[in-house]
Amino acid sequence: MLTIDGSAGEGGGQILRTALALALVTGKAFRIRKIRAQRKRPGLQRQHLTAVTAAAQVGKAEVLGAALGSQEMSFRPLRAPERAEAREFRFDIGTAGSTTLVLQTVLPPLLTAAGASTLLLVGGTHNPMCPPFDFIQETFIPLINRMGPEVTLQLERHGFYPAGGGKVRVHVKPSARLRRLDLLERGTIHRKRARALIARLPTHIAQRELKIVGDGLSIGGDDLETVEIHASHGPGNVLLIEVAGEFVTEIFTGHGMKGVPAERVARGAVREARRYLDAGVPVGAHLADQLLLPLALAGGGSFRTLTPSSHTRTNIDVIQQFLDIEIRADPEDETVWRILVGSRT
Ligand code: ATP
Repeated sequence: MLTIDGSAGEGGGQILRTALALALVTGKAFRIRKIRAQRKRPGLQRQHLTAVTAAAQVGKAEVLGAALGSQEMSFRPLRAPERAEAREFRFDIGTAGSTTLVLQTVLPPLLTAAGASTLLLVGGTHNPMCPPFDFIQETFIPLINRMGPEVTLQLERHGFYPAGGGKVRVHVKPSARLRRLDLLERGTIHRKRARALIARLPTHIAQRELKIVGDGLSIGGDDLETVEIHASHGPGNVLLIEVAGEFVTEIFTGHGMKGVPAERVARGAVREARRYLDAGVPVGAHLADQLLLPLALAGGGSFRTLTPSSHTRTNIDVIQQFLDIEIRADPEDETVWRILVGSRT
């Protein structure tokens, strides 16, 4: 049984999620210690526990020690990896914990499963420090689909932190294997636009955010949109800046928070978008750590990105504990890095 150190590198929930996904794909059992040791509230929170339960259902796994707050657990998949159960799943986090992170945990085995599956995820859809639904739908999944599978997503209800209650439906039509993916160029930028989602809060918050984005990134007219959400369980405000390039669409996010001026929220997202635009790379910092796993499962791929984050470095280490695959990160200059997974074609 593999032993994973949950305190290594970034020391967050991603170590556990990557281990769960890879256990399902490879059939390898693992024990993890010091789960999320570098977080303020270490151990399994609702989102992580749901990811464990979800992975256990998909892989009919034997799980020991998983409870709220657990800092140690083990996971042994009993189903042969290629027979990952393909059917209808419903995973309810019960809090505003991120549905997108639970999805990323169980998606890898379903991409090459024997049949199609449908998932209904209930919880947060737009959480701070997590991929917002829009990033999954417009950035991450189109790249996965380019590798062979056909994944479609519907946002049935927005779920903002802290109320949650969001609903995401996912259909996965698998492919026999994943094709490699190479994202070395960004190509032409077709469009830059920004949407400010606002639920049960004054719309001037959204308008102030969009003003900053418009001025900072030279976006105007219909490309700046206030989207009023009426059906969510609680209030929320999320700013989404979209940069649609020839080969990839990137999304940069700002989360409105009580006590933080709308202008500051927007400036943070604009800064992130600017850094990406100036570097001329196709893959942003968050997408970089999330692409590693699918590329490793495909047996190869490459991309150019910004200086690797500690999430990226940590994820490389976890992947290499499960798979015998080379992953290299080499600088091209001060801000641009090239990541190579598997051998060069
Ligand atoms: P914790 O560490 O508290 O357990 P967590 O479970 O949310 O938190 P992390 O290890 O911090 O897990 O991983 C968060 C993931 O969310 C990473 O893959 C990161 O790239 C991604 N992410 C964070 N913010 C964004 C964003 N704005 N857009 C896209 N992806 C994001």
